[in-house]
Amino acid sequence: MEHKAKHFKKREAILNCLRSTNTHPTAEWVYAQLKAEYPDISLGTVYRNLALFKEQGLVISVGTVNGAERFDADTEPHVHFICHRCNSVHDLPGMIVPESLTSEVDRYIGGRTESCSLSFTGTCRECLSRT
Ligand SMILES: [Zn+2]
Ligand SMILES: [Zn+2]
Repeated sequence: MEHKAKHFKKREAILNCLRSTNTHPTAEWVYAQLKAEYPDISLGTVYRNLALFKEQGLVISVGTVNGAERFDADTEPHVHFICHRCNSVHDLPGMIVPESLTSEVDRYIGGRTESCSLSFTGTCRECLSRT
């Protein structure tokens, strides 16, 4: 019973950690934030829980940036911008995929679009100002 409670606490901590940031972190980042408070947590535990959360629809994957999967606790559809220099992932919350694009896809495929994840890649403001 005690083991189960501890297990649950770690799950909650991983989810809360992800919900507390908008940096779209990697599993390694989440692990680094939590290991001081949960010394017995392992990177494998973080990976397993994130995979589970993804399956349960609690988090989404933004995709792989520079070899590492990035996670987002905001599961509402929104557009991302990924900087290929510093690997930062930004939200574009006010931007929605236009209906016209969706219907064009539907026409082309002859099917029906149910979801869309859109991300732009480029250089962010900080990186641009450093050049
Ligand atoms: Zn950048
Ligand atoms: Zn996001």
